[in-house]
Amino acid sequence: MVYPQRRQKVANLLGALKLDALILCQAENLRYLCGFSGSDGALVVTADKLVFLTDSRYTTQAETEVSADHLCEYKTKVDGILGQLLESGVERIGFEAGLSYGTVRELQDRGAAGWQWRHLREELQGLRLHKSADEIRCMASAADLHVAALAEVTGLIRPGVREKDVALALEFALRKLGAEEKAFDTIVASGPRGAMPHGVASDRALGEGDLVTIDFGCRLAGYHSDETVTLALGAVPDVLRAIFDIVLEAHDRALAAVAPGVALAELDRIARDHIKSSGYGDYFGHGLGHGVGLEVHEAPTVSPRSQALAEAGMVFTIEPGIYLPGVGGVRIEDTVVVTGEGHQVLTKIPKTFRNILLN
Ligand code: ZN
Ligand code: ZN
Repeated sequence: MVYPQRRQKVANLLGALKLDALILCQAENLRYLCGFSGSDGALVVTADKLVFLTDSRYTTQAETEVSADHLCEYKTKVDGILGQLLESGVERIGFEAGLSYGTVRELQDRGAAGWQWRHLREELQGLRLHKSADEIRCMASAADLHVAALAEVTGLIRPGVREKDVALALEFALRKLGAEEKAFDTIVASGPRGAMPHGVASDRALGEGDLVTIDFGCRLAGYHSDETVTLALGAVPDVLRAIFDIVLEAHDRALAAVAPGVALAELDRIARDHIKSSGYGDYFGHGLGHGVGLEVHEAPTVSPRSQALAEAGMVFTIEPGIYLPGVGGVRIEDTVVVTGEGHQVLTKIPKTFRNILLN
């Protein structure tokens, strides 16, 4: 059983932080710790008890899917949480960063005078940081599914077709093939729009000679996939062809270095140094990657500021890019798992330069 192990992680955290209780409301943490897949509820965890609380919309669902010591139905979330805290005789209470300011203020105003409150941020990031074999399998399946979806729509990626139409077809294919949902708003950024790292699909029609950056993924059993491919529509200008090769080399070098014990900041440095030494350092503004799991962006961050080392079970992206305003851009992204000896790439779209008008 997976939930007792995960609860143990929270129990350890309570001990390490010297807290009597922890309040969690973020949907991904609820799903991780007790199996609840709905969108609104709360967990109150103490040393000896894990209580799941929700409102009447979710009671039936919770009864079938939640693993907890108690299920409580509340009229208001604050009433429910306060009831648990008062009953448990706690004093030092940690709460998740995602709890709204209004909720926290109300809990503090209506709670016992002596209670000490602690706002938790990074402290909770370790909870879902190391993925189990089951979680990794689920993310690999999500990635396989999105690869199949792209294969279905590749024939549509032709001059004259709008970015939006490509994105819609891709999202339809994802759902049809069994995805719960797209992982995020699909990015289809063609021609000069490729210079926008987060250029969600627009009305722009693809043109011959464009590079087209497609950044997409899906969600399966709560877990996300995330991959970016940059495709050529015919012969592209020399400058775009050149930055493609630079980004690919930066991506390949960083990816090859992924192994347990390597500093995440070092992975970023490997990719960034190559882009810098090629003369495009000013055009790679974002960090190299991010963790992926129940959230599409989660710990660990892979950037120059990262403090952590890669550890077995971490899952994160490697996604260098070069963005030339007014001209175009390239990003190449894979999602990788750190294994005991090295790494395993979950995302399988070939990354070599590809003119899709030729096939
Ligand atoms: Zn992405
Ligand atoms: Zn990403």
